Amino acid sequence: MNLTDPNEIKALMAANGVRFSKSLGQNFLVASWVPEKIADAAELSENDGVLEIGPGVGVLTRELSERAAEVLSIELDESLAPILRVTLMDRPNCHVVYGDALKQNLSELCREYFGAERAWKLCANLPYNVTTPLITAFLESKAFETITVMIQKEVAERICARAGTGEYGAFTLLVNWYATAEKLFDVSPDCFLPQPKVTSSVIRLRRRSESAAQVDDEAWFFKVVRAAFNQRRKALPNALSAGLGLDKGSIAEALGALGLNADIRGERLTLEQFAALSNLLRKA
Ligand code: SAM
Repeated sequence: MNLTDPNEIKALMAANGVRFSKSLGQNFLVASWVPEKIADAAELSENDGVLEIGPGVGVLTRELSERAAEVLSIELDESLAPILRVTLMDRPNCHVVYGDALKQNLSELCREYFGAERAWKLCANLPYNVTTPLITAFLESKAFETITVMIQKEVAERICARAGTGEYGAFTLLVNWYATAEKLFDVSPDCFLPQPKVTSSVIRLRRRSESAAQVDDEAWFFKVVRAAFNQRRKALPNALSAGLGLDKGSIAEALGALGLNADIRGERLTLEQFAALSNLLRKA
């Protein structure tokens, strides 16, 4: 069976009465170099447990199963079950759980399937409609040493953006708070069936072993970041007083103490500067 042959995929789906679901982001890989290269990028060792979201017909799952001790895949579309039973039949280290990945306790599942003695990694070709909430859940769980995922190029650019650019925003800071991010390579629409409208990119996130910056109150830090980018065209005293109910004068004073102008916008501040600002504003 060649799971990257479009005709074989279509035949498998037709034989099992399965149709591609656009709302579930079902764009399956049909260029064999791509699942191989994604699995290689995940830096798996033979002792690792790897979590995959959305196995589809199992093309990346099979690559992962050759590189890790155990693979757990979560698939929302239960109609793919008869196909996955066949395509993963010869892979005893692959397990599939059917359900919405956004509603699972990912750490609990990994503990159950991998045990605490293995390193846990995540590798997936993500459904594009839920990329941001999924990546947020992966990071907030703090469960994964590395997260290697294919996502829309535009989201990859937001994640890897530098301060002062149009792509830089609250999501950039959230990802970089938990992990260091690298954009690895692009994948064109003709590598998928059906073809998506946009180019994709593979990124790798590595969990930080030490905090990205010294922050006194993490929840407050994220509130400051969100308020700054909710009104990203406004100067920080205006954006933060609207979002946090703080007095504009104290915000300008805190910016001054950091050597920043009062008319600066949030998009120009680095993560370290946001950390320092949020610490000062907490005391304001
Ligand atoms: N891994 C396959 C590949 O690379 O060809 C399929 C990737 S496809 C882009 C995304 C997969 O995620 C689909 O199989 C889809 O059914 C599944 N999916 C969509 N939303 C999901 C969710 N919330 N939880 C788990 N799986 C989901």
